[in-house]
Amino acid sequence: MTNKELADLLLPNVGSDITQYENKYPKRNLKEGAIVTRFAPSPTGFVHMGSLFASFVERKAAKDSDGVFYLRIEDTDQKREVENGVQGIINDLKNFDISIDEGMISETEEIGAYGPYIQSKRKDIYQTFVKYLLESGKAYPCFCSAEEIEDIRLIQEKRKQRIGYYGRYAKCRKLTPEEIKSKVEAGESYIIRLKSMGNFENKVRIHDLIKGDLEFPENDIDVVIMKSDGLPTYHFAHLVDDYLMRTTHVIRGDEWVSSLPLHLQLFQTFGFKLPKYAHVSPIMKEENGSRRKLSKRKDPEAAVSYYHEKGIPVDAVKLYLMTLANSNFEQWYDANKDKTLDDFKFDFKKMSSSGGLFDIEKLMNISKNYISRLSAVKVYEGTINWAKTYDKEFYLLLEQHRDYAISVFNIEREQKKPRKDFGCYSEIKSQTWYMFDELYDKENKTYEFQTINDKEEIAEILSTYINKYYDEVDTKDEWFNKMKDLAAEFGYAREVREYKENPNSYKGHIGDISLVLRIALTTKSMTPDLYDIMQILGKERIFKRYNQFIEGNK
Ligand code: GLU
Repeated sequence: MTNKELADLLLPNVGSDITQYENKYPKRNLKEGAIVTRFAPSPTGFVHMGSLFASFVERKAAKDSDGVFYLRIEDTDQKREVENGVQGIINDLKNFDISIDEGMISETEEIGAYGPYIQSKRKDIYQTFVKYLLESGKAYPCFCSAEEIEDIRLIQEKRKQRIGYYGRYAKCRKLTPEEIKSKVEAGESYIIRLKSMGNFENKVRIHDLIKGDLEFPENDIDVVIMKSDGLPTYHFAHLVDDYLMRTTHVIRGDEWVSSLPLHLQLFQTFGFKLPKYAHVSPIMKEENGSRRKLSKRKDPEAAVSYYHEKGIPVDAVKLYLMTLANSNFEQWYDANKDKTLDDFKFDFKKMSSSGGLFDIEKLMNISKNYISRLSAVKVYEGTINWAKTYDKEFYLLLEQHRDYAISVFNIEREQKKPRKDFGCYSEIKSQTWYMFDELYDKENKTYEFQTINDKEEIAEILSTYINKYYDEVDTKDEWFNKMKDLAAEFGYAREVREYKENPNSYKGHIGDISLVLRIALTTKSMTPDLYDIMQILGKERIFKRYNQFIEGNK
């Protein structure tokens, strides 16, 4: 029985002409150095921080080189399937503005000429490649049961030998064509294995763009390439897909580093050019002085939903991811504040081979700086978008008082040194509530009075201020001079300096008086510029709040 007859017996109704696919998916016509890479998740429904980071790097590397970034769904392990799992991944990428050039765009639709981009629709392609190997005598069927494989493992353990289906343990390798035929005809189930020509004593070298030069023993394991359900294993699908989709750079998690000798061998078996590899280390977290992987189970910030809930702007998260990806980015960005991520050139060599350390405080700091540089309109848009999902009350208020809210968000903004109050959109309400009557009125207020805290004196200061000094048309200077007059009228120094020189001549100073006006208006001792606040609140609100305070403390 020839190899061809054997292949026909094992995979009837399947061709073995791999050139038809090579022709159908020709070399891409891209400029020299263009990176073609992919994000290849299983359809588990969501992307966590580690894979968001990888896809961010992949998108960036492709974009910087005028290459292609595509989304391939790896669903050959049907046990791991989740309902609407593809859509979940697409949404997560979209929400972080990580666009794809090709690949799945919904559960069933895709764009691009190198598809299908979901592995379950590529069965014919994989089987053609498997059949081609069978015909060339480089693969064979294996009928071993799970128990037999387990027995081999136990023997190997006992003998302190490497675990795996290789050498003399690869017993189905020795089956004659006649034995195979009778097993197939008897209906025995089988898988297909690679007939490895490797020798474990040899060394192979592979260069990784992040980890550098790596050396491994050559693969000699007859790995499974096709499972009994007719679908390929990860390794074989990697070979076929990345070859036919003309991937130039395989950027993936470093749990795959140990499979490199096998992948090298698979590409060599077919005589295909090996893609470049970049194995991304997992994001780390420091805890009690030691490092561990950022964990989906233990760390809320490992879920991408965390950033949406908090309302951390996507661009701020991306800036942070870039600091994790390239150690030189932060310095570059400090020196080029007017530039964007697109202007920075990503470099594999600047990636940490041991894994970036996740630092939520740093991320929040980046976000704070980022928000401080946004226009008031952009802050408004970001906040209302966030509130739409996470805070209905605030959403309705913002919708109803658009222009007013924008002027509130514009306090100490759009200037050289903008105020840095907001770390994320979810913090904005708790920092600005007193500017909105609806929130102010329902608040159970506690006033943070300090030096001046005698209610009668406060009431007198407030009523004197509104009756004698307040004038809504005052410029900032005029307003401030009147505050000084008010201070003097109540026995407080007009200047802090005067008070310091003669502390016994005054009850306090101008700062104490303005603090009273600030707190009675907002309840808070720390707010942005009081003049700005008063300008926005306007006469009616100021009088109403001061009068309410006076009435309430009679
Ligand atoms: N489906 C594989 C995973 O989720 C992809 C690895 C790769 O990018 O090749 O780990």
